[in-house]
Amino acid sequence: MAMAHPVRLDLPEVEVREQRLRATVSYNGTARDLSRRSKNFSLVNHERGFEQCSTCQQGCAGIAYNVRGAAVVEHSPIGCAQPASAAMGINVANAARGLPDQSVNVLSTNLSESDTVYGGAEKLRATVREAKRRFSPDAIFVLSSCAAGIIGEDIEAVTSELQDELGIPVIPVFCEGFRSKIWISGIDATFHGILRQIVKPARKKQPDLVNVFNFEGSDTFTPLLGKLDLRANYVISLADVETLSRMSEAACTAHICETLATYPAKALEQEFGVPEVRSPPPFGISWTDAWLREIARITDREELAEQVIESEHKRLEPLLETMRAQLAGRRVYIFAGDSYAHSISNMLLDLGLDLIGVNTFHHDQTTDGGLEEADSLGQLVASKGDIGNFSVCDKQPFQMVKVLKDLQPDILIVRHTNMAVIGAKLGIPTIQDGDVNISAGYDGLIKLGERLLTAWRTRRIFQNIARHHRHPYSEWWMAQNDPFLLSSEPVA
Ligand code: SF4
Repeated sequence: MAMAHPVRLDLPEVEVREQRLRATVSYNGTARDLSRRSKNFSLVNHERGFEQCSTCQQGCAGIAYNVRGAAVVEHSPIGCAQPASAAMGINVANAARGLPDQSVNVLSTNLSESDTVYGGAEKLRATVREAKRRFSPDAIFVLSSCAAGIIGEDIEAVTSELQDELGIPVIPVFCEGFRSKIWISGIDATFHGILRQIVKPARKKQPDLVNVFNFEGSDTFTPLLGKLDLRANYVISLADVETLSRMSEAACTAHICETLATYPAKALEQEFGVPEVRSPPPFGISWTDAWLREIARITDREELAEQVIESEHKRLEPLLETMRAQLAGRRVYIFAGDSYAHSISNMLLDLGLDLIGVNTFHHDQTTDGGLEEADSLGQLVASKGDIGNFSVCDKQPFQMVKVLKDLQPDILIVRHTNMAVIGAKLGIPTIQDGDVNISAGYDGLIKLGERLLTAWRTRRIFQNIARHHRHPYSEWWMAQNDPFLLSSEPVA
């Protein structure tokens, strides 16, 4: 891995992933080939010949909705604010984490046709002031949109003026849908704004605090890091603005997913001197060992870490042996985001399952920082060998239905709710791994094994659903040999 550009917090925008990480949304081949070709950036992000659907990066930028005590202004036509409805479920996550409820504070400027002719700056000023009046937030994020981008609205100037007027961070987030096909570019845009305008230089270092970049999952890391006498600082979902401002005080920055967090981890190291944990994420036995060892090295707890690892291995071994025997022979397929799909692959192979294929929604050919140790695909291939039927496809249902019909896995694991439906309609027992934190650490491996067993035992429900479902694709399409026929990336 190479091509590590410095983070530029002096600029209002971060480059999208197609440019920064040479990301692609189309590939079909093997894990080893994908890893090898990524090392010299030889994959090209072709336009698709045919696209059934797409997702806007504004949805991912909407991670700003999850910042406790903040407000979001969507500078867009009202339809672009749709992801706000998904954020309304945030208190389920708060309950799982043992935190009090929080409000999701969102307003839209509701740009109209005439605003796209005469400009929407006045509407933006009025809406940001209204957000301050209505919610008394600690920060306001202003999310851009295609309409605002196309007319060249000067959001940077308006937010800067309003920040002075209102006395709180007013943060522009540049996430116009047309700029990137990689929806997680929107998360980078929100992180960029937080790093520029919320994080402050450390007032007092906290040597036992570990930043853990995660989504809105359960509290797995308090007990795991507690074994090393360390505290987990969960960021950024569910954290408040004050907590985010103090990320610079932590001993180090870890994460659950390179796709999610190598950008803010690199920025915190470069700009605030907080070291990044250089290891794959803590999913599966050897990756959890490596993650703990690296945190222990940075926080000077190496001896304690070795004791913890030894005792956890002893505790786990008999449980794993039983689970492997129960799961033996089951053929599993994974359909998830880039790095997280690699993490689940690592766990399934630890559980002794037959991993018959993987599809990731996009693929970054490098990470921010270009670290070999955080390259989850490279680490997976190096430790577990090659994986066939390895593809990259941004949720195109016509392709995924065909892949699953052809491969006929016993169990499907997906990361997102809307993808779980595809498996169910095909009669494949499907696990939706939404709360990613549950699968982390040593106990996470056992919990994943238990969920796989439950899914397999309930297969008749899925078979029943499939009997009553007819998919809309033509016989011609379903008879094709290559599910990726209509993608322009050649088969490896
Ligand atoms: S920002 Fe653009 S792509 Fe995203 S929802 Fe709005 S119009 Fe659609």
